[in-house]
Amino acid sequence: MQNSYAGLYVHAPFCISKCSYCAFNSVIKPVDTSGMCSALSSELYRRINNSHLQFQTFYAGGGTPTLLPPEFWAGLVNMAVTESLKEVTIETNPASADAVDYHSLLQAGFNRISVGVQSFNDKYLHLLGRRHSADEAGNTLRQISNSGFRNISIDLMYGLPGQTPEDHRTDVEQTLRFAPQHISAYDLTLEPGTPMGDRGEKASEDICTDMYHQTDDLLMANGYIHYEVSSYALEEKYRSVHNSSYWNRTPYMGIGPSAHSFTGTSRSWNVSNISQYESALLRGELPVESSEELTHENAAHEILALGFRNTGGVDLDELERYGFRLDPAELLQTGLVSRTGNLLVPDAEGMLFADFLALKASELLTVSRV
Ligand code: SF4
Repeated sequence: MQNSYAGLYVHAPFCISKCSYCAFNSVIKPVDTSGMCSALSSELYRRINNSHLQFQTFYAGGGTPTLLPPEFWAGLVNMAVTESLKEVTIETNPASADAVDYHSLLQAGFNRISVGVQSFNDKYLHLLGRRHSADEAGNTLRQISNSGFRNISIDLMYGLPGQTPEDHRTDVEQTLRFAPQHISAYDLTLEPGTPMGDRGEKASEDICTDMYHQTDDLLMANGYIHYEVSSYALEEKYRSVHNSSYWNRTPYMGIGPSAHSFTGTSRSWNVSNISQYESALLRGELPVESSEELTHENAAHEILALGFRNTGGVDLDELERYGFRLDPAELLQTGLVSRTGNLLVPDAEGMLFADFLALKASELLTVSRV
């Protein structure tokens, strides 16, 4: 089973400060990160030792993984590398750019970088609690490009409190000036327990819907392919293979505090607490908190929940393999999906209403065999 993992995710849980909307598992970076670097290396070594894993993707996320040294990342990538490894991504934050040697990261084996810009407007950056300005974001993008990266993704957020469609249009236009190979444009999610989530600060649903369509129109007019509700690629080859593996339900291994793994039939997740994570590995144990086996019904509902979010769509044959049949007539009548062979493929409006489509489809599922 282990040989089937296609993606490797590494969670680096440190940031220089906490953004006002962020519910990711991250804490302020300590002066000494060597304990975490050793723990992450140890976990990967233990998980892959004596096996022949053929990862296709490596994704360093967090947190702000570029706060850990390039030589640490070089060692980790080296442990995971085989000739099947194609896409090697690291996330970064313009607020930490001064301390980051992007050329060393390229030499460490990364060939793709995802930059959390979020906005090119200082007012909204301040509101989001980001520790960088729009100018610094621009400088970081130039620095990354000059260091040799040729596959750059920019993260943008919209639906911010007080943000107008004109403000958002300007953000998208500023993003286009850098002609990134990939853009992720996210509607702000209000997470309970975060300052913005607790204050309930967000643009209205109508404005968010306008901004979604505005993003779609502007990016499609500039040659981007809208392949997932929040994801746009400048060419087919720039689709995120790693993220696509989550939507396709391809097995992946996650290492680091709170990281999840998926074998195809079960999910497991690590402890979130950083000292518990490091202690478990020092004791020679894997830091797994829990796991669950997926029933065929779980799998069918996941196929629906994920499939309508991206243009890969929902595969009716795959549902059949799990013992469920879906009569698509009512879904096709919504005009939000079309049928190509055995695939139900959402359009841009359909991806926006993915939750509605998944709920409707789950009501239409019938058992095809027991
Ligand atoms: S940089 Fe990213 S992970 Fe860190 S606090 Fe901000 S949003 Fe969260």
